[in-house]
Formats: sequence, structure tokens, C-alpha cells
Amino acid sequence: MSNIVAIVGRPNVGKSTLFNRLLERREAIVDSTAGVTRDRHYGKSDWNGVDFTVIDTGGYDVGTDDIFEEEIRKQVQLAVDEATSIIFMMNVEDGLTDTDYEIYRLLRRSNKPIYIVINKVDSSKEELPATEFYQLGIDKYYTLSSATGSGTGDLLDDVVRDF
Ligand code: GDP
Ligand code: MG
Repeated sequence: MSNIVAIVGRPNVGKSTLFNRLLERREAIVDSTAGVTRDRHYGKSDWNGVDFTVIDTGGYDVGTDDIFEEEIRKQVQLAVDEATSIIFMMNVEDGLTDTDYEIYRLLRRSNKPIYIVINKVDSSKEELPATEFYQLGIDKYYTLSSATGSGTGDLLDDVVRDF
């Protein structure tokens, strides 16, 4: 069975930045093959020799936070149906929002493993503000900087361990 990891979250939290980072090495290989079109929403990645597919759920990313609940619900449901693991991303810059609560509520209905990621923790000074996300009622989250890549290793260690 193939492992499919979906990155879910509201616009601008940093999903595509993480997606591109996870694909980096593989895309370098694909690029050298003439005629291969890179798919921006599905990509192949691997961690510690374990292959997986990554889905960037970006369909409602229109550069605004003013997204319809119905559209969010659709995107989350698609990701949940297709994925074997889910990365739910929020970010410390915007803090915890109503939309985050709504997405998490939808995700919890699935019995697939969910990894809660707080992005844009670019330095240790953002670790303390990130603790506000415990208000979601969660036991654990991963702090990440998709921009620099810090924290991605700890996350991926756990994601591939649970495959
Ligand atoms: P998406 O809408 O969830 O796919 O978010 P994007 O990946 O397009 O990122 C939205 C914005 O956040 C862009 O300007 C990114 O450069 C920025 N961004 C993404 N990850 C980080 C991060 O770890 N730290 C900081 N400071 N900015 C980030
Ligand atoms: Mg995006």
C-alpha cells in the first residue's frame, strides 16, 4: 500500500512552502528528465528511505482568509478520503483562528493519524506564543519553520514511523 500524506490548513499558513520543501530533492531528479511535467499538487518524497506521496491541498488558496466554510469542508473531506496521514498546519504568526477550530473539528471525524503542525516558528522566541494552540484541546504539536526547514525532521520521523 502506498502512503499518502495530505497537508491541510487555511490559506497562507505555509502549506505550499512545506510541500515544495518535501519535494525538493525529488524534483531535482525529475527536472533532469525531459518532458516530465511537475505536478504542483501531488509529489513524491521520501524520508529515511521510506517513500510517500504528498498532497498540497491548496484549492481554496486565493490569497485571502475570506473562504467559505463549504469550500473548506470539501477540501478537508477530499484530503481525508485520499490520504493515509494528515498534516494539519496552522501558524504562530496569525495565531489560533476560528477557521482552524473548524478544520480541526472536521479532521477529528477521521480516524487517520493527524499531525498538528505550528508553522512559522522561525526561532526559539516563537515557541512560547505557539503554546496558545493547546487551546484546541491537543496533547502534542510540532513546531516548524517551513521556510528554513527546521523541525521538519522530527515531524517526518513520526509520520513515517506510523505508516
Ligand atoms: P499556503 O497558502 O498555506 O500554501 O502558504 P504558502 O506556502 O503559500 O505561504 C504563505 C506565506 O507564508 C508565504 O509568503 C511564505 O513565504 C510564508 N511562509 C511559509 N512558511 C514560512 C515560515 O516557516 N516562516 C515564515 N516566516 N514565513 C513562511
Ligand atoms: Mg498553497
